[in-house]
Amino acid sequence: MSRNFKTGWCGTILDINLTTGSITKSQLDQNDARLFLGGRGLNSKTLFDRVPPGADPLGPDNILCIAPGVLTATLLGLSSRLQVTTLSPYSGILGDGNAGGAFAYVMKRAGYDQIIISGKAETPHYLWIDDDTVSLLPADDLWGTSVWETTDRLMQRHGKNTSVACIGQAGENLVRLASTMVDKYASAARGSGAVWGSKYLKAIVVRGSQKVALHDRERYLALAKADRKYLAKDSVQQEVSAVYGSHYGMVNWFPGYRNFEKVLPGDAVPEAPEALRPQAWKQYEIGRIGCQSCHIKCKNVYKIPSGNRKGERGEALEYEAIYCMGTNCGIEDPVAILEMENLADIYGVDVIALGNTIALAKDLYNRGIITDADTDGLKLTWEDAEAQIELIHKTVFREGFGNLIAEGLYSLAKHFGPKAMALCYHVKGLSRGPHPPGLYALSHAVSSRGADHLRGRSWSAGDNSSEDILTTLVDRQIISDDPIQSITAGERATAIADTIGRCKGAVNTWACAVPLVWKSGEAWKSDQAGKSEQAGKVGLWDGLAELLTAATGIDFTGDDIADIADRIHAVERAFNIRQGITIEHDRLPQKPEVKKGPEGEKQQMEHFKMLSAYYKKHGYDPDTGIPLPETLQRLAISEIGIRLAEDGPYPLWDGPLLWDPDSYPTGGTRE
Ligand code: SF4
Repeated sequence: MSRNFKTGWCGTILDINLTTGSITKSQLDQNDARLFLGGRGLNSKTLFDRVPPGADPLGPDNILCIAPGVLTATLLGLSSRLQVTTLSPYSGILGDGNAGGAFAYVMKRAGYDQIIISGKAETPHYLWIDDDTVSLLPADDLWGTSVWETTDRLMQRHGKNTSVACIGQAGENLVRLASTMVDKYASAARGSGAVWGSKYLKAIVVRGSQKVALHDRERYLALAKADRKYLAKDSVQQEVSAVYGSHYGMVNWFPGYRNFEKVLPGDAVPEAPEALRPQAWKQYEIGRIGCQSCHIKCKNVYKIPSGNRKGERGEALEYEAIYCMGTNCGIEDPVAILEMENLADIYGVDVIALGNTIALAKDLYNRGIITDADTDGLKLTWEDAEAQIELIHKTVFREGFGNLIAEGLYSLAKHFGPKAMALCYHVKGLSRGPHPPGLYALSHAVSSRGADHLRGRSWSAGDNSSEDILTTLVDRQIISDDPIQSITAGERATAIADTIGRCKGAVNTWACAVPLVWKSGEAWKSDQAGKSEQAGKVGLWDGLAELLTAATGIDFTGDDIADIADRIHAVERAFNIRQGITIEHDRLPQKPEVKKGPEGEKQQMEHFKMLSAYYKKHGYDPDTGIPLPETLQRLAISEIGIRLAEDGPYPLWDGPLLWDPDSYPTGGTRE
């Protein structure tokens, strides 16, 4: 079959050097496109190639990689996700975030597979991309303004059919929890907002009018239509659309309570606060909205009913905001949670990082490990929502105690010493709470951007088990419930979703993350062009391989797709090894009372046994977690191993490189 790197892909990379002001367009490297596709894959490879080990995340050597997926803007449902990748100032390792909205779709239609931002401007600027015309424009008038105001002003200036990615005051003040914000409400986290701020880049505005070419348009559209039809009748998606929206996670999952003192059942059990139950949020909803190309429209639009921000509109309240800013900080007042969600969107901060850092601070305060003298007199009692809101403002403007919160969870714990670190339940600086050894803990431990739920866990057998298709895949023996097999399959699903530009859904399901996955286990059908003569059943990645082939003209197989995911994972691991990550950092966070006793030691041993099996499965050294040369060779990325060996040894990771507390900017005004 012919190879055409302008079907599916646009074929162009946009490279902006803010130090020199140069704007360069180059051809997408064909080898990179075939091996890494787009989105997360392309970004992680670029990050490895261009950011030297030990670079200051807030210095000019760091870069921002911004990419839609290879299938974005092709009429595939849920395919408008944008990947923003950088060396994270929050964690000091690979940091990426995945945002919805319309930016990815419009960027692809403007003709770009990736934007790479390097260097540092001397004054504030924004980038205006109008199809082929790209200009770097002064942004002095926008500096100091919020995400919402910046977006409104730029849309007014450049027209309504544009999309805006930008930062608010948090990014400008180099708050390490700051996000890249897309179209006001969607966010890409892991601290990328501070990297924009460090480069004096306020925003990117894009308008695109070109169609993305497809190799076999008819076949592609037929497959995309079948996928959309399946999703429309999937019971989880129906419930998301018709009932809960973006906070559906509350139904099945378990929010942390008071810095993970325990987890709360989301729905059925009486101890879950009445006002925070999943169905309780419906009363604030005034509508629904979706990202570009998504018929699920999971984002609930709400109006704040009372309090300081009465009448203010907000969008896309998620389970994470309710739990991280709410229950995990001891707040059970829904109106205060809505207010904090809006503040996070206005200032451009990640609700998970902010909530979990404040939860740790509150835990330290309520245990007497820190006092009023440390908090500038702020009384951080668990229930006090007003004090928490004040702390959010202080964090964004780096005032007093807020200047410490702005450095992030791990750095806060480090500042207050071992007693604080014992309560900091993190993996590589990110927190999803303590868990006993097993599938849950392992997936957090090996996630390439630090503990989180979006790198494999939710797709593993036994977790999101209410999902019809996951149960079917396990029944059909396509996915095993062996933890190592299951996590590996889940990791591949998320890497691929982030690479093709597909949303993992409001509830992180296989049916959303992997197009056509529901075909897995069926017998080959005669209408599968070019494959009908094969014996056996459709494999886990075969449907997607067929879709990618129809889009790009490259003959992908299911095995190729699995290899692409494993390749991405290996490159991300290699990047983190250069940042000082070792097997010791793929750790099991434990509560102090567990950690101290023999039970803690037993759990750690069990965890390391699983870790070793996991490394083996991936072709990594079972004792160090470093990808073996033969694995890198099999994945056609031997040069990664050579670079790893050449650049080492690496200083051990101990959080991100910090600045003198007095040297950060502190501009802008409170909203
Ligand atoms: S499911 Fe929700 S987050 Fe995902 S693309 Fe659709 S509207 Fe956006």
